[in-house]
Amino acid sequence: SADTAMYSAKQNGRNNYQFYLAEMNADAALRLQTEHQLHLALERGEFELHYQPKLRLAAGAQMGKISGFEALLRWRHPERGLVAPFEFISILEETGLILPVGEWVIAEVCRQIGVWSAQYGSVPPVAINLSARQLGHAGLPQAVRAIVDAAGVDPGLLEFELTESMLMEDPEAAVRILGDLKSQGMRLSVDDFGTGYSSLAYLKRFPLDALKIDRTFVRDLPGDSDDAAITKAVISLAHSLNLKVVAEGVETVAHVDALRAYGCDEIQGYYIGKPSPAAECSALLQPESLAAA
Ligand code: C2E
Ligand code: MG
Ligand code: MG
Ligand code: MG
Repeated sequence: SADTAMYSAKQNGRNNYQFYLAEMNADAALRLQTEHQLHLALERGEFELHYQPKLRLAAGAQMGKISGFEALLRWRHPERGLVAPFEFISILEETGLILPVGEWVIAEVCRQIGVWSAQYGSVPPVAINLSARQLGHAGLPQAVRAIVDAAGVDPGLLEFELTESMLMEDPEAAVRILGDLKSQGMRLSVDDFGTGYSSLAYLKRFPLDALKIDRTFVRDLPGDSDDAAITKAVISLAHSLNLKVVAEGVETVAHVDALRAYGCDEIQGYYIGKPSPAAECSALLQPESLAAA
């Protein structure tokens, strides 16, 4: 491991960084280099957000309209090109860098909402993913308030996505923090629902607006009868708690048809639109494309 390599290097009295790299295996070296570069990425302006639409599925006047976007973080690395979150989010969390980067994400979404509202008149809500580290940070609601105030954005245009495991880590703290964000006017949803462990008693106490069904349950619809049963049960649970349901990972018309038949409210996935840079979202932002607020 990296620790062992550094320890033995120090024991040998050779505190040379190059030496550590040579002794470490390639994975550990890449990880250390990535961590080092992530420390500089924010000030170098290498992070960007891509936006993926959510579509209103339920029958009615809003059917087929865009109901919102989700902001997804990308790292534009000078040599590696566009790097996906699975390659760096866990490092940001472990190093604590997710706190400043997470604040940048919120500020950048606010800035983008300002640009879009100037361009198109109205903007649908934009969802931001939060990490466990951010939720565990007592200063989160205040930091959010300061960023949103400074940007002058309507808090109702912001949504936060949190996973079940994050919420259940310290549910009482989550109830307080979510309550604060809710009182600021933001929307709240549970991401990847069904993959974690959640207590229904707490689900009722969190001031939530939506559940997002994880894409692993959607993938084999409608053929897989277990996934179909789980999806229907989640939709029914959500509706009885007065929550909206969004299905993730919708890739085919068969997925769309099944989810419509089960009464799912909104869908998101490659079939509707891949995450794209803000400049490529203009067709979706035309007033006739948007669901009414
Ligand atoms: P997530 O929030 O559950 O986001 C959905 C992921 O599924 C995204 O991956 C999206 O590109 C991908 N996806 C969307 N539609 C489809 C589809 O039809 N098929 C398939 N196979 N995949 C689809 P991405 O962008 O790589 O993000 C992965 C995860 O990284 C996110 O999962 C979220 O947990 C995390 N993440 C992304 N941006 C941020 C951020 O700004 N902050 C934090 N804390 N986490 C983030
Ligand atoms: Mg999400
Ligand atoms: Mg998700
Ligand atoms: Mg996920």
